[in-house]
Amino acid sequence: ASRRAASAVCRALEVAAARLSEAADELGRLDRVAGDGDHGIGMQRGSRAAAAAAQDARSRGAGAGTTLLRAGDAWSDGGGGTSGAIWGEMLRAFGASVGDERPLEAEALAVGMIAVRDAVMSFGKARPGDKTMIDAIVPFADTLTARLRDADPCRTAWLAAVDAADAGAASTAHMTARLGRAKTHGDKSLGTPDPGAISFAMVAASITPTIEE
Ligand code: ADP
Ligand code: MG
Ligand code: MG
Repeated sequence: ASRRAASAVCRALEVAAARLSEAADELGRLDRVAGDGDHGIGMQRGSRAAAAAAQDARSRGAGAGTTLLRAGDAWSDGGGGTSGAIWGEMLRAFGASVGDERPLEAEALAVGMIAVRDAVMSFGKARPGDKTMIDAIVPFADTLTARLRDADPCRTAWLAAVDAADAGAASTAHMTARLGRAKTHGDKSLGTPDPGAISFAMVAASITPTIEE
């Protein structure tokens, strides 16, 4: 179970890194509206470093939890910025929750995503409505947990959660940023969605094919 789960983690990080490379320019443009324009390059670098570190850990026989912890450290070091620190925190929280022995089935996914949601909120102190990636993460985690509790298959529950993350990310266009760099730019971001919320929804969507049915 452990080796299989570590391989699934590596596959997910690989496809996320590929998707983020493809989207780097678009994410940079979004961040330029009210931020410093580095979100695309930061996500690209962070996810590549995370995928490489995960592959390295797995090839040394690490289980899913340890693989995620190493990937999280690499993401924050390689990505930099606020989003790098937070994505590092997310991967470490998921890794600590899942551990090295459990298979990545419904229960582990649900409990792990709640741990991710809570870790990001305690780390960055943002709340829903602050125009951050939290506005995509919270609906994602809550929908995933609710669907899995209703005994939906993992892939089906994941797809519903991706829809909720997309809607949450889109809703940030109507919000004014209160935290992070964007707050100093005030209302400039009105009409533009939060880059971190968009990239979270993008990553979640991209890894759907790696989620077992
Ligand atoms: P930086 O702001 O350091 O340049 P990025 O541009 O890579 O970093 O990431 C910006 C994104 O980080 C924002 O779009 C937002 O989603 C997210 N973010 C900023 N502050 C917080 C916070 N306190 N909690 C959660 N997410 C945050
Ligand atoms: Mg930025
Ligand atoms: Mg920056």
